Amino acid sequence: MLQLNDTERTVLACLWRQDGLSRARITALTKLSKATISRVVNQLMEKRLLAEQEVEPRKTRGRPSTPLTLDGNSRSVGGVNIRSNCFDVSLGDLSGRIKDFFSIGHGRTDVEEGLAALPERLIERGVELDRLVSFSIVTPGIVERATASVTNAFYTGGERVFLGEKLGPLDCPVTVENDANSLIYSEILFGRVRETDILYIDKGFGSSLVIDGRVFRGPHGSAGELGHLQLDPRGPLCWCGKRGCLSAYFAKESLMEMFSFHLNESHLKQPERALLGVLSQEYAVSSDRKFAGVFEQLLDLLGAAIANVVDFLGVETVVLNNQNPVYNSRTFDYLREYIFTTAIKRKNLKFETVTVSTERLMLVPLAVALSALLEKQEV
Ligand SMILES: [Zn+2]
Repeated sequence: MLQLNDTERTVLACLWRQDGLSRARITALTKLSKATISRVVNQLMEKRLLAEQEVEPRKTRGRPSTPLTLDGNSRSVGGVNIRSNCFDVSLGDLSGRIKDFFSIGHGRTDVEEGLAALPERLIERGVELDRLVSFSIVTPGIVERATASVTNAFYTGGERVFLGEKLGPLDCPVTVENDANSLIYSEILFGRVRETDILYIDKGFGSSLVIDGRVFRGPHGSAGELGHLQLDPRGPLCWCGKRGCLSAYFAKESLMEMFSFHLNESHLKQPERALLGVLSQEYAVSSDRKFAGVFEQLLDLLGAAIANVVDFLGVETVVLNNQNPVYNSRTFDYLREYIFTTAIKRKNLKFETVTVSTERLMLVPLAVALSALLEKQEV
């Protein structure tokens, strides 16, 4: 199996950020010695991760500074995104270009068997497994990276499932990552997120944190439970056992109570997320002051939770995933106003939304696989 040390990862990361750097530029950027960079570049070329770009012969004298590039032909990365009804499999090159993408259905209870069969499916698809240098498994649930395992996903029951070992026949490191964290990796590598400290709120009320440029997952991977911040110890009971969690206010039972004056038969037939979406859409266009006032009580709770995290951790960028049914342009403006008038550390605050396109979703497993390759290993 391909092994990389931290210096090799650092050089790869330099070229990821800027293709075509010369050895001299990398030496300057990394502040490592010329001899070290020269040796490491040779090692990476032997491992077929780097290549020298063709250059036109120079007319001036002296040794030309050959531009280096990530080897896009010899090696590949890949990953699988475990979604509620299928596996989305992405394969790409070291520059993050998609080379192949396909979906395989699963029946929700046979996810582990489906994963175990994946190496075989890759071979059938013509994937050369010995070219793979990093593979990822993106999953809902609480992921422990060190043991490549997951709990609390729809297919795990009450068990801890060791996903990493399911892909044994792949002769490359397999990284397991939670889906919300994976999305933020993808935004950092491929999107416009450039900040080093971020609170990212996923399509529900789960969140990811980036602290000092690294995804912060906590000792057992469970950091970022924004939805279970307790906002009132006497509030509605949450499924987690606490009272007054943010999520508990957005649960169907609580919505039915808060909006009892407003709801009709068709509202009541909606499942939880859809009901929230309907109420949010009504708020977007409503001139009913009473209804808007109650909806804004809900938004205040979400705003308070966000402002608390902003002040507690000092993050200066808040990114909201547009797929949360609560968001529309009016709720977004309201939340922004709430947070900017509440958070102590609002001075440099950035408040953004992200729309996760199908194309971006295809890149998510690649982002995790690439980050595992480029990031220094955790100590
Ligand atoms: Zn809770």
